[in-house]
Amino acid sequence: MRAWRVTRPGPVTAGPLTSHDEPVPVPAPGELLVRVLACGVCRTDLHVAEGDLPVHRPAVVPGHEVVGEVAEARAAGFAPGDRAGIAWLRHTCGRCRHCLRGAENLCPDSRYTGWDADGGYAEYATVPADYALSLPEGYSDAELAPLLCAGIIGYRALRRAELPFGGRLGVYGFGGSAHLATQVALAEGATVHVMTRGVGARRLARELGASSAQGPADPPPEPLDAAVLFAPAGDLVPTALAALDRGGTLAVAGIHLTDIPPLHYRRHLFQERQLRSVTANTRDDAGEFLRFAAQHRLRVATTSYPLASADRALVELAEGCVVGAAVLEPSAGEGRSA
Ligand SMILES: [Zn+2]
Ligand SMILES: [Zn+2]
Repeated sequence: MRAWRVTRPGPVTAGPLTSHDEPVPVPAPGELLVRVLACGVCRTDLHVAEGDLPVHRPAVVPGHEVVGEVAEARAAGFAPGDRAGIAWLRHTCGRCRHCLRGAENLCPDSRYTGWDADGGYAEYATVPADYALSLPEGYSDAELAPLLCAGIIGYRALRRAELPFGGRLGVYGFGGSAHLATQVALAEGATVHVMTRGVGARRLARELGASSAQGPADPPPEPLDAAVLFAPAGDLVPTALAALDRGGTLAVAGIHLTDIPPLHYRRHLFQERQLRSVTANTRDDAGEFLRFAAQHRLRVATTSYPLASADRALVELAEGCVVGAAVLEPSAGEGRSA
């Protein structure tokens, strides 16, 4: 099969990925072998390729938004021909205090697809069946891919922001994750204000139902009950905290954030405003979000690339010129947008 590996972690323009012809992986007991139909290109893949995240598995195959068809099942629960999703989380210990209290996202022994184990920038991938996801009907393969990380993490970030029903939500940055979380919040009766740089992103925000869309540092038109920072920009933390109403919560969604400038206690935190991070997700988050996606037809903006152009897709993601979520499809033509 064809597979891309991160053989030289470094700047994406220097070509950290190399393409290989290699044997199809053999699933271990308890695992599924999946034929990849689509794999999303996530910003975390960029952090793996560029070495922002430490190397866990040398020459790993990146990609953790994998939509596929089960080719071989060495476990109960899935059969050949079933559609299955492979997401970021692929192992937890099940015994530590975090796992036992339902916070397996914090398990110190957790392992991740496309970082600790080979992922979906390939024609086949394996996954422990206990961590494989059942996928909702009514979406194309390319549309499902970004739901598996951008969607699930955005959903968890929204929950961590403790948005009250019908509350006022601020969304900072408006990429793949934010445009999905915004649709969840709107479906739950929220008023959403979007703060983002891109003119196209602001237009999409308004089309999806946001009440306002302005620049990243602009104040929203009303105080916020909750906010989610999707942009990896630490200098927006004080800006977003200052936009919160009394008792409001800001959740930082990213795995990577630039430095946060000094906070001023009265302007940014007093009146019981809270600042929280978001770390990966649990399988319960994934299940809840995918059930939500089955009940509410989410609009998913994607640009497809053939698997052979994975290196170019990463460069274009780094340059910020991908419309919607970039998705690799072994069968795709060049640069189709949907
Ligand atoms: Zn654990
Ligand atoms: Zn991701």
